Amino acid sequence: MPDLRHTDQLRQPLQRLRTTQGNRVGKESWSVSYRTADWRRLSVQKRKEVPYCELCGQRDGDVSNPLTADHIQPLSEGGALIVPTFMLRTLCRVCHGKITKHRRTS
Ligand SMILES: [Zn+2]
Repeated sequence: MPDLRHTDQLRQPLQRLRTTQGNRVGKESWSVSYRTADWRRLSVQKRKEVPYCELCGQRDGDVSNPLTADHIQPLSEGGALIVPTFMLRTLCRVCHGKITKHRRTS
């Protein structure tokens, strides 16, 4: 049964993550809290203050590359979700994707 062995290999990193209490709690509250009304309001406010990408200068209004508010100190590194807007930056989806990728590999 090669399929079974493959599934076990996939499960291993998850189990390791679950044994680390802090990681588990942090990760869960993280993904849930991004859907709260407070965060949406803050994100909208930031994009009103800075209606362009702070890295490439892309303006709001491009539906294929929308702007998002990004935490300067990521939640995964202990940052808070609800912060003053100066602790956020406006990024387009392309730049946000690049930064997220960079964070994961660094
Ligand atoms: Zn950009």
